[in-house]
Amino acid sequence: QEDLKDFVPLYTTFERFFVRNVIERGYDVLHRPVCTVPGAVIDIRERKFSSSGKFLGLTGKVFRNVVNLGSYNYLGFAQNEGVCADAAVKAVAELGTGVCSNRFEVGNYEIHSKLERKMAEFLGVEDCMTFGMGFATNSMNIPCLVGKGCLVISDACNHASLAIGCKISGATIRVFKHNDMKDLEKILRHSIVEGHPRTYRSWKKILIIVEGIYSMEGTIVNLPEVIRLKKKYKAYVYLDEAHSIGSLGSRARGVTDYFDIDPTEIDVLMGTFTKSFGASGGYIAGRRELVEHLRLNSHSACYGVSMSPPVAQQALSSLNVIMSEEGKERITQLAANTRLFREKLRTFGFIVYGHEDSPVVPLLAYLPSHIACFSREMLARGYGVVVAGFPSTPLGESRVRFCISSALSKQQILDALEAISDIGDIMRLKISAKQILYK
Ligand code: PMP
Repeated sequence: QEDLKDFVPLYTTFERFFVRNVIERGYDVLHRPVCTVPGAVIDIRERKFSSSGKFLGLTGKVFRNVVNLGSYNYLGFAQNEGVCADAAVKAVAELGTGVCSNRFEVGNYEIHSKLERKMAEFLGVEDCMTFGMGFATNSMNIPCLVGKGCLVISDACNHASLAIGCKISGATIRVFKHNDMKDLEKILRHSIVEGHPRTYRSWKKILIIVEGIYSMEGTIVNLPEVIRLKKKYKAYVYLDEAHSIGSLGSRARGVTDYFDIDPTEIDVLMGTFTKSFGASGGYIAGRRELVEHLRLNSHSACYGVSMSPPVAQQALSSLNVIMSEEGKERITQLAANTRLFREKLRTFGFIVYGHEDSPVVPLLAYLPSHIACFSREMLARGYGVVVAGFPSTPLGESRVRFCISSALSKQQILDALEAISDIGDIMRLKISAKQILYK
């Protein structure tokens, strides 16, 4: 442990204390080996740890047919059978699994261009470019859009890939309170009046970075207000739709569809294929000049391998289904499952974060020590869940983060709710009506 100390500079001493004492004691609930497709049900292998957190090996016990409440499989496309899986298998037979090159060199395949054209059509913008990894789509492309002399205004709950991209860019970074439009406007107003703190010149560019659905909060961005402010202060908007693309809006086109906003109002539309599409990789879409600029300058595209053909095929097949009648059914099912799940949790007396239409459902478990216990209890009852605590969340706001899928049946959701309610009683996580009144 001691010689590993230098490898965790991201944590302060206080955070390291927590990581060691709380997270490591609950290590069995993290990195769980999953042995099946991340569909509605999964098989999970058990591992054993000593009381000091030392890994003692796989015990061989496999929890079978565990209902999956943790994967980002919003529209149920993570599967190993059906038309999408068949098309991916065909792509493996024809093109293999890896392209072993980037788009500049010999990694530029027809399937990439097909996916990009279809994605641009789906999103209602001029052009789109795909990248091998969602994380790198943010972290490597933001530095192509802003640099020294530019100002980035970023939501406090933005994903790590966005924060890293901002840091690498060299731009000045200001952070506004999560989804707080008054705070965003305050920063914008100050920035316009004062300009760059050393040169006093006005900023070369101001970029507001927000997400569609925030992955730890389940909040939906207040996009109409972001657009109003962007216009008023002549800024640009970068929207990360990793969780909202496919899961929001009547046509699954994300947060612009949800608010009925013209997608061309957003300067940079970013998203990933890792969630609603059951694939992997990311994309950036928008005006043709923006995408052309990235094609020539993006480090992720120039120096990183392009999407594996069967993965690109999976994304394309999912997209074709999303744009069909079957897609509409999946979206309706996802919305119904989400509403049922959220509503019931609230009536049970749990504190649930986020917007009622968000399939990311964080349930407050308070202390970091609660989360491992909750996860183990759920697994013992046949449910796989994701838990998160400090430093990913504030200290007393540890949470269970459910991700709802259209692949889950109503019965599976109702049974899961019963198990959650049961554990909530045992762990005293519910608040009574009296407590609410008192508050
Ligand atoms: N952006 C957001 C908002 C995310 O939540 C994530 C990961 N969950 C990413 C980007 C990175 O995407 P990927 O996992 O596809 O690399």
